Amino acid sequence: RPGQRWTMRIAALSGSDRIIILSDRSAIDAADRMRSDFVANASHELRTPLAAILGYVETLQDMNDEADAETRHRFLSIIEREARRMQQLVIDLLSISRVEADRFRRPTAPADLAAIVRTTIAQLRDSEQARAKDIMAKLDDGVQPMLGDAAQLGQLAHNIVSNAMKYGRAGTPVTVELTREGDRVRLSVSDQGDGIPAEHIPRLTERFYRVDEARSRSVGGTGLGLAIVKHISERHQGQLDIASEPGKGTRVSVTFPLAGPDGT
Ligand code: ADP
Repeated sequence: RPGQRWTMRIAALSGSDRIIILSDRSAIDAADRMRSDFVANASHELRTPLAAILGYVETLQDMNDEADAETRHRFLSIIEREARRMQQLVIDLLSISRVEADRFRRPTAPADLAAIVRTTIAQLRDSEQARAKDIMAKLDDGVQPMLGDAAQLGQLAHNIVSNAMKYGRAGTPVTVELTREGDRVRLSVSDQGDGIPAEHIPRLTERFYRVDEARSRSVGGTGLGLAIVKHISERHQGQLDIASEPGKGTRVSVTFPLAGPDGT
């Protein structure tokens, strides 16, 4: 392939036998590049709110007692918002490194996905975003357990449902369904939002990839939510599917294998 790099090693076996070992450097180079891009992106994402915080703090200090109460209040609100953005980013960065570290550890404990999703919905109904949106849940309780990490599955459900709430139109409902399909269970979340143009869909699970950066920031997004979803899904042998019709809405769904009758 173009750009592919190989390293060759020749090792001596017994007598005059030699073995040639060819290794594909390009995969290692790509992983190195991804890692350094990630560090650069994360630093940039943290630097932006930090610069705003320092700027407003310095302005307040320069103003001394001249700032009226309203200006002081406004600046403090901006400082708080930017600090919260940094806090969320740090939480998401820790999550992504944790789920990546767990990548090859197959979950062995049974998890009740219906109960996990119900708890997530209750938490989101209490959140600020919920004011303009109703969550309609159709959860099939008869679904037998799957093998899973309950905390991670809760985070997966949280990220998908909160995206539907963030990007759905105000006043429209978000629908969360859990259904059995043969030997798998499907969690699907639909919203009535602006949707996502088809060319962006394959890239949504990349870290920090956003369709509309300003929109994502204004709704409190970090650009890491779906990257975390992808990792958790893969760890649970899940299949992630994103279907969207621009102008109409989006449906994000994940299917997982159910545990067999002997619980494995
Ligand atoms: P963010 O924190 O920006 O929401 P995500 O990784 O969760 O990051 O999602 C990546 C991008 O995918 C978002 O910035 C948004 O552009 C798009 N997106 C995700 N879910 C939806 C949805 N339900 N409707 C429309 N766009 C969405």
